[in-house]
Amino acid sequence: MNNGKLIVFSAPSGSGKTTIVRHLLKQNELNLEFSISATSREKRGIEIDGKDYYFLSLEDFKSNIKNDSFLEWEEVYRDNFYGTLKTEVERIWALGKHVIFDIDVSGGLRIKRKFPEQTLSIFVKPPSIDELKIRLKKRKTESEDKINMRVAKASAELATAPLFDVIIENDNLDKALNEAYQLVNTFVTAN
Ligand code: 5GP
Repeated sequence: MNNGKLIVFSAPSGSGKTTIVRHLLKQNELNLEFSISATSREKRGIEIDGKDYYFLSLEDFKSNIKNDSFLEWEEVYRDNFYGTLKTEVERIWALGKHVIFDIDVSGGLRIKRKFPEQTLSIFVKPPSIDELKIRLKKRKTESEDKINMRVAKASAELATAPLFDVIIENDNLDKALNEAYQLVNTFVTAN
């Protein structure tokens, strides 16, 4: 065992959680390391294997499920599996760091259930579903179909916000970044 902590950021796709997580990772005094998830989805343009994700074939992903190698996993979109390998958390704790996650709502809640005391679970709420659609379109990384799929999922995910320890409303990015910093700093420095 160890006294490493877990910081979970979950939110609908496009709500800005990745921006918040990246900002926190730059603050060295927080001593955070990003949990690199495994996924069976295809790599997007600038993504790097072993940095953004561990990109696995569908077959490899499924054999890891069978071998009980995941702390949590989810078929986030059809045939697109995502999960946290147990070895990933062990790797980060061995560095003496706290783990920060950018994962979907059910994965986030599962981590909280597995490590209730060690985990701070944060839900990032986009201003509205319409705003979310605009942000996803601006990102230009997904087709119209995929955007609609993500928006449909987002509506369901918004309903789970009250299950998290804290909700951050991301209607003003600077405010959200500052709020996230304060929350995480307080949590990692507490005994
Ligand atoms: P994207 O395809 O945009 O990189 O991610 C799609 C969704 O999968 C996002 O909501 C992201 O947070 C979620 N996700 C990424 N990694 C994991 C993971 O390890 N476990 C779970 N449950 N969801 C993940």
